[in-house]
Amino acid sequence: MNHQEMHVHGVPHAHGGVCQIRAENIHKRFGSLEVLKGVSLTVHKGEVVVIMGPSGSGKTTFIRCLNFLEEPDQGRVVVCNVEVDCGVRAASRERSGKIRQLRTRAAMVFQSFNLFPHMTALGNVIEGPIQVLGMKREEAVKLGEQLLAKVGLAEKRDEYPSRLSGGQKQRVAIARALAMNPEVVLFDEPTSALDPELHEEVLQTMRQLARDGMTMIVVTHEVKFAHDVADRVVFMADGTVVEEGVPQEILVNPKHPRTRAFLRLVE
Ligand code: ADP
Repeated sequence: MNHQEMHVHGVPHAHGGVCQIRAENIHKRFGSLEVLKGVSLTVHKGEVVVIMGPSGSGKTTFIRCLNFLEEPDQGRVVVCNVEVDCGVRAASRERSGKIRQLRTRAAMVFQSFNLFPHMTALGNVIEGPIQVLGMKREEAVKLGEQLLAKVGLAEKRDEYPSRLSGGQKQRVAIARALAMNPEVVLFDEPTSALDPELHEEVLQTMRQLARDGMTMIVVTHEVKFAHDVADRVVFMADGTVVEEGVPQEILVNPKHPRTRAFLRLVE
């Protein structure tokens, strides 16, 4: 979807205005290692943003900072008008409440799926709606069945994760993220733990989500996916954004030598 379409079709959020995800000047260090050195990113409703860059450049840490799986040391995160300042040492009830709200709006799909092993596919999908959103079981089951059908796994509803392939597990994880009715889905290298022949089924599911207008931030090395699906590609190296732009600019005519060197390696 291009920017013009996005503004025409952008659906106003219930809290007023069009939902926007904004990270401002995010800093994060692990001990003496400065992993994020002031990263900013704005994502509009319906946009698909792909983040690429060499291993260790801080991509995963950055998206984990967006829903406070990592606490940034400095900066600010805003998801659909829920605004949280970072680097605040004193925990307050108000701040924890905002982080909880922000987490239900920004759902995460992990590289290693993180499904609950003792729950069936359906059980994994309905756990969040029941426990976090307070949905009635019957309603959650209906929703869970719809979402499993959407990711092509209706017939696997009663299987446990140990009986699913990696690609199927990741599709269950996507259904589980969608069950929280998020405003944005954050994907952390969703295909990199999978055998190459299983990448495409997960990428197809993600393509469909993008076509449905879901706002997505995707950390991935999948250049073709980025080329076909992203509205914008952000290239990170050494904890900073080196360059960003439409896929054609960044993937075909990158300006920065680091981007060029990286693309030579992954293509
Ligand atoms: P990328 O996703 O670009 O590969 P990461 O965000 O995973 O990069 O990691 C950036 C750097 O931060 C790496 O050097 C990694 O070892 C380090 N790092 C990530 N998480 C932690 C952690 N919890 N504790 C200490 N170091 C970490």
